[in-house]
Amino acid sequence: MFNPPVMFLLLPGGVGGVGTMKPRTMTSIAPSKGLSNEPGQNSCFLNSALQVLWHLDIFRRSFRQLTTHKCMEDSCIFCALKSIFAQFQYSSEKVLPSDALRSALAKTFQDEQRFQLGIMDDAAECFENILMRIHFHIADETKEDICTARHCIPHQKFAMTLYEQCVCSSCGASSDPLPFIQMVHYISTTSLCNQAVKMLESREKATPGMFGELLRNASMGDLRSCPSQCGQQLRMARVLLNSPEIITIGLVWDSDHSDLAEDVIHTLGTCLHLGDLFYRVTEEKARQAELYLVGMVCYYGKHYSTFFFQTKIRRWMYFDDAHVKEVYSVMHDVTCSAW
Ligand SMILES: [Zn+2]
Ligand SMILES: [Zn+2]
Ligand SMILES: [Zn+2]
Repeated sequence: MFNPPVMFLLLPGGVGGVGTMKPRTMTSIAPSKGLSNEPGQNSCFLNSALQVLWHLDIFRRSFRQLTTHKCMEDSCIFCALKSIFAQFQYSSEKVLPSDALRSALAKTFQDEQRFQLGIMDDAAECFENILMRIHFHIADETKEDICTARHCIPHQKFAMTLYEQCVCSSCGASSDPLPFIQMVHYISTTSLCNQAVKMLESREKATPGMFGELLRNASMGDLRSCPSQCGQQLRMARVLLNSPEIITIGLVWDSDHSDLAEDVIHTLGTCLHLGDLFYRVTEEKARQAELYLVGMVCYYGKHYSTFFFQTKIRRWMYFDDAHVKEVYSVMHDVTCSAW
């Protein structure tokens, strides 16, 4: 079954983020171009992931500075990405082909039979895998789960370093902490809607911190028994150990034909505090961070498209393969107070 998540990207509201009204400098110019998707190519998942990477100022600027890498010739995702970024920047064409990256991706993941030519795939997983391949090309000497290479954009900017643990408030027993790293924070939409109903029942009015709290509650999973069998039912708590600059959330549909789409849209906020999203956040910087929605990848009618906030022109843009449109909306004016 193919139930791709909606991807949701958030950035801090500090310098360079959406929250400021500072005029942009020349270096932040990111011209918008469409990406072709001929009949039978089924490249919309890749085009969406690519538009996200190009429009994320943090990624685009850091990636530009990378020069050396372990090259994989015609299956080199690093080279293919460099090439399409150069075209985004310098080409006079309004629509670019993403074929070189599509083919490098297909060759790289041939053994796993993922992202193969002509076959539709998952945009969030494509995005995650491109990031992991960049790690491989530039910081292969360090392991994925303990990568501390300063130039490794995926791990320095995107990765959330977490551990998961059950702590019993009644008897104090705790399960063994399970450490892990994730590029995308996946949340089930069913769980999201159930939690939204519960939270709205228990309070009179929606509050600014509610969106983060909602996401936290929705990602805690099912109740489980206390590790010392005291009879308490507990939920898994997640603790964030680092301070990622970009938070990506993937909303996963639990069934092929969900009637929750409208409910899910109503639960979404545009502002998020990391301290609300996780049970505990150890770094002060992360605890203080206020994140704003900058992009969204949507899946509708077996097709991916992308909304992204362009910092240079301070407008929301809509990318549907070759088509690029400006979204006449007040989305970026919608603040936490809208909740
Ligand atoms: Zn290369
Ligand atoms: Zn790395
Ligand atoms: Zn207990």
